[in-house]
Amino acid sequence: MIHAGQLSNKKILIVDKDQKQKNDRTWSFWETKPGIFEEVVYRKWKHTWFHSADFSRLLDLSPYEYKMIRGIDFYQYCFTIIQQHPNFEIKYGDIQLITNEDNLAVVQLNDEKITAEYIFNSILFEKPALKDKDYYLLQHFKGWIIETDTPVFNPSEATLMDFRTGQQHGTTFVYVKPFSATKALVEYTLFTEKLLEPSQYDIGLKDFIQRFLKIELYKITEEEVGIIPMTNYKFPAVDGRIVNIGTAGGQTKASSGYTFRFIQKHSARIVDNLVKRGNPFIALPGGPRRFKFYDSTLLHILKHNKLPGDKIFTRLFKKNKPQQVLRFLDNESSLSDELKIISSLPTLPFLKAALKQF
Ligand SMILES: Cc1cc2nc3c(=O)[nH]c(=O)nc-3n(C[C@H](O)[C@H](O)[C@H](O)COP(=O)(O)OP(=O)(O)OC[C@H]3O[C@@H](n4cnc5c(N)ncnc54)[C@H](O)[C@@H]3O)c2cc1C
Repeated sequence: MIHAGQLSNKKILIVDKDQKQKNDRTWSFWETKPGIFEEVVYRKWKHTWFHSADFSRLLDLSPYEYKMIRGIDFYQYCFTIIQQHPNFEIKYGDIQLITNEDNLAVVQLNDEKITAEYIFNSILFEKPALKDKDYYLLQHFKGWIIETDTPVFNPSEATLMDFRTGQQHGTTFVYVKPFSATKALVEYTLFTEKLLEPSQYDIGLKDFIQRFLKIELYKITEEEVGIIPMTNYKFPAVDGRIVNIGTAGGQTKASSGYTFRFIQKHSARIVDNLVKRGNPFIALPGGPRRFKFYDSTLLHILKHNKLPGDKIFTRLFKKNKPQQVLRFLDNESSLSDELKIISSLPTLPFLKAALKQF
């Protein structure tokens, strides 16, 4: 792990339009060891449920743990560390443009022009211009933190995916993260091309809570909404002295929307390169290429409705060990893991979709 102090001879300016004082999101991911944000892990689970119409299993994830970090805890933790390093400065404002000029990177912040040796950009200014064979689905969701008067949740068992909810809008599932016996985050999630009407997320949540959690009386204490692009579009990793990071740097896994751990791994490699070689330009910023191919194949299947998403994920979790699936979803599987996983999926639609990617 690289410590920020190793770059203490560099002046680092952070610019954001938002002061990050709200709990605007929760991040979930899985790890086998304590990660760099372990101190702010809010809850973690060793067991998670997978449910679909005809299959249910409590998955023992060991050695993985499914972890959750609240946005607000993450922001405060990062600001505390940043404040300990006098070479960091924070400015708030709306960036209009990021560009290169005279071998320097330039940020246009209202009337101010800021130049830098490098810019690490996580702003997605606009939807990318798609080419043939670029698929662009959305992972969109609404979550409620609900509280009940009587104990109804088992706090040691989360739900990774529950596809028993209606599939009439496309691939749809709910996940449940219990914080205690009386409090949980319940999130209604879709992988589709179009967003729903706002009321349809509420209908989905209410229906799931009543039918599958069997809860009639509850209080909604917080809400979360989000849209994550699921695309095989190749986000440019670098433009001159601008290094794109986060979703804007292609770190969202196209076939799952998971991003958090990919960002950490990508950023750690960039910092390592800066410290060891003096520049932030890493090889294969998107990870091994074969995973892009798997993602494109799955996106093709989902976009063209060749197989319903609930059937694909059911096969994945029914026929493989959860650890193999999690490694695969993290782009960390071995080729033998991948062969096993591929052979567990319906051959013909996947073969046809795979051939379309060439
Ligand atoms: C509600 C929600 C829940 C999510 N949950 C998960 C999860 O459980 N697991 C997971 O792996 N991924 C999750 N994701 C996906 C992903 O991890 C997050 O979107 C993550 O925050 C992406 O990081 P980022 O740095 O790319 O973008 P962001 O965190 O969105 O950072 C971009 C920053 O740029 C700032 N900005 C934007 N435009 C401008 C501008 N013009 N000028 C100045 N500043 C600007 C924003 O204020 C923001 O701070 C979730 C996303 C959302 C929205």
